[in-house]
Amino acid sequence: MIANYHTHTWRCNHASGTERDYIEGAIRAGIKILGFSDHTPNPFSWNINDGIRMLPEQTEAYFRTIAALKEEYRDRIRILAGVEVEYIPDGFFELQRYLREFGCEYMIMGQHYLEGIYVRHLWDDEMELQLHIDQMIEGLSTGCFLYVAHPDLVRWSGDRDFYVEQMTRLCRSAKEHDVPLEFNLLGFRDGREYPNARFWPIAAEVGNRVILGLDAHCPEDMECELIEAAARKTLKSFGITDIAEEIL
Ligand SMILES: [Zn+2]
Ligand SMILES: [Zn+2]
Repeated sequence: MIANYHTHTWRCNHASGTERDYIEGAIRAGIKILGFSDHTPNPFSWNINDGIRMLPEQTEAYFRTIAALKEEYRDRIRILAGVEVEYIPDGFFELQRYLREFGCEYMIMGQHYLEGIYVRHLWDDEMELQLHIDQMIEGLSTGCFLYVAHPDLVRWSGDRDFYVEQMTRLCRSAKEHDVPLEFNLLGFRDGREYPNARFWPIAAEVGNRVILGLDAHCPEDMECELIEAAARKTLKSFGITDIAEEIL
């Protein structure tokens, strides 16, 4: 793996390891570009204190720590400072401005909630699935996202055709805006219901750009050689062989 743009740290309360631990792990794994994308602090929305992200008072230290390590490790690995963002229309541009002031270099879209409903709990309500996809499409149209993390997080047991229709809309929008979709290696490694075997043939059909993301929540997740090979094999079985590497 040349680049991984999806890395968390202890700051989000459900990951372990310091920034330095992840960097050392990445160097050992031969990764050349390591992007940090911890769950964004968000002073402008309801999720300001939902327990799975750093608080706004930690923002400065997060970016300062990464900036110092970027300098320290500059001859060994390229470090980037980003965040994983829940796209919520209210306050989104204020959030973007706020993050930029701290030197944020990129955002990945990680949609976990639909107005407070955890999307892995979106099972069969068509209105909810449609709203979730609408929100992601709106986020894509801002042009602010480097890629979409786990675009297939929804666990759907409802009508199959409806799922295909909605995911096709999402894939087409990502393609139109030239935003890659992430095949999430955390879910893949853990045998979760995502990456979803029903989703990736749709992305193959639409012709989306695809990228691998470790979604690392502990430094050991950087040891990725085997999981990467398995992921490439799985994607190949869906007809996806062209995987994006360095995108920033
Ligand atoms: Zn997380
Ligand atoms: Zn993540």
